[in-house]
Amino acid sequence: MTKKLYMLIFIIFMALVLQGPACGEQSEQKTQNQDTEKTVKKPAKKVRKALSARKKSSAKVSSVRQKEKMPKKSGTAGVPALVTELRHWSNPDYTRIAITLDREAQFAFHRLPQNREQNIPPRLYIDIDKAKIAPGVNDIRIGDGLLKTARIGQYRPDTVRVVLDLDSMKDYKIFTFSEPFRIIIDARGERQTEISRGKEASISPLPTIPAIKPAPLEEKTKEGVRPAIGKIRRIVVDAGHGGHDPGAQGAGGTREKDVVLQIALRLAHRLKEGLGLDIVLTRSTDVFLELQERTAIANKVGADLFVSIHANASLNRNSAGIETYYLNLAKTEKVAQLAAKENGTSLEKVSLLQAVLFDLMANYKLNDSAHLAEDVQKAVYHKVSARYAGVKNLGVKQGPFYVLVGATMPSILVETAFVSNDREEARLNDPNYQECTAEGIFDGIREYIVSLK
Ligand SMILES: [Zn+2]
Repeated sequence: MTKKLYMLIFIIFMALVLQGPACGEQSEQKTQNQDTEKTVKKPAKKVRKALSARKKSSAKVSSVRQKEKMPKKSGTAGVPALVTELRHWSNPDYTRIAITLDREAQFAFHRLPQNREQNIPPRLYIDIDKAKIAPGVNDIRIGDGLLKTARIGQYRPDTVRVVLDLDSMKDYKIFTFSEPFRIIIDARGERQTEISRGKEASISPLPTIPAIKPAPLEEKTKEGVRPAIGKIRRIVVDAGHGGHDPGAQGAGGTREKDVVLQIALRLAHRLKEGLGLDIVLTRSTDVFLELQERTAIANKVGADLFVSIHANASLNRNSAGIETYYLNLAKTEKVAQLAAKENGTSLEKVSLLQAVLFDLMANYKLNDSAHLAEDVQKAVYHKVSARYAGVKNLGVKQGPFYVLVGATMPSILVETAFVSNDREEARLNDPNYQECTAEGIFDGIREYIVSLK
């Protein structure tokens, strides 16, 4: 196959995927994956190409998609999808709209120019096929300088239309998340009005760090580091899972969501006390947070780093060790499986996520994240292996983790230990081990900050 033909297939597939729900046949996905593997080293260039290709082909693709109906899953045929929520988040750099449905649905979107005569602003609208609006889902006022309003209506008996009245939006991305199925629109542009970092309250109030019994800090952390802090002021510490999502579970009944919260709280305390940084926890209690909400919080508060804390699990109960991830395409089946688990989706969805990852990664700080991951992995392993026997260093890896998607600052995910391994499960429950792990992550972050000097 010639290179040009390869590119063309890639672009068409990318355009299709970016329009909406899963549609490609297996063979198409194969082509995509082969191609993405090849280009993994040059994401930025590829993104630009894909973006411009999408812009050119969007009108065409919309009509193609309307003709090419996807067969409904058995058992739900004929049942309309229900739009259960319409939300928005205003971030300093973009505004995100999320349309949540109770099942996958097809959609097409269109852009309409401004009508000066009738004083109608430019609009973007999305028609969702075979869908109804759940009671209580209403129009939302946005007025953040990028978007004015999002209006929702039953356009036809079987079509829901969401209209975005635009203010100064220049560019946008549309993609989907699954389980629950969500259509996400990220609108970018230059705002007429300034939105201040960290002061908007359209997301739930951010938890502050609750009191946790202070661990004595080593002398060396108290001095000699502060001068380097300049570049990093605010860090978001994200405890994985929570609420109805327990995360991985150990044979002894340990739930990932509980132990990672303890580690996150300890880490937050250390960072605040030891480095005098502004620390925001995505959660400080046992509550559920959408994956997309976690990086949205980080973007919103203008965080300089994002660190997500998790515990690993494997069917092989001998698997053990520490590993740190940053966002990229999965290189191995194992990583794809872990990503599926952490994302709460199927392997199939992970391969689709990989396909859109080029686009989503346009703002991702790949090199900085890799650097941060290296520093943290090294320090955690160093700290933990000095005090505990048989600790394995599984190294720094790359994977397509939803929780890191959309972050605009260096961001990593630490798999602290295996909850599926008896010895590590017991350790994860031990406050001393939790503290030791938090210390290790702290050391790594400090190392990273110092290196920025
Ligand atoms: Zn997890």
